[in-house]
Amino acid sequence: MAYKISDSCVACGTCIDECPVGAISAGDIYKIDPDKCVDCGTCASVCPNGAIAPEE
Ligand code: SF4
Repeated sequence: MAYKISDSCVACGTCIDECPVGAISAGDIYKIDPDKCVDCGTCASVCPNGAIAPEE
C-alpha cells in the first residue's frame, strides 16, 4: 500500500519537502511513487487541502 494524491491537489508544494524518502514528485498534480512510499502519513497530515490519503 502507498499514499495517493487526489484531484484536490492544487500543487502548492507543501508535501514535497516533508516526505522523508523523496517519494513525491511535482507536476500539475503532485504524484507519489508507490515503490518509494513507506506509508508514514506525513504528507497527508501536512496537506492543506486534504488531498492525500492511503490508497484503498
Ligand atoms: Fe512520503 Fe510518507 Fe507521504 Fe509516503 S506517506 S509519500 S513516505 S510522506
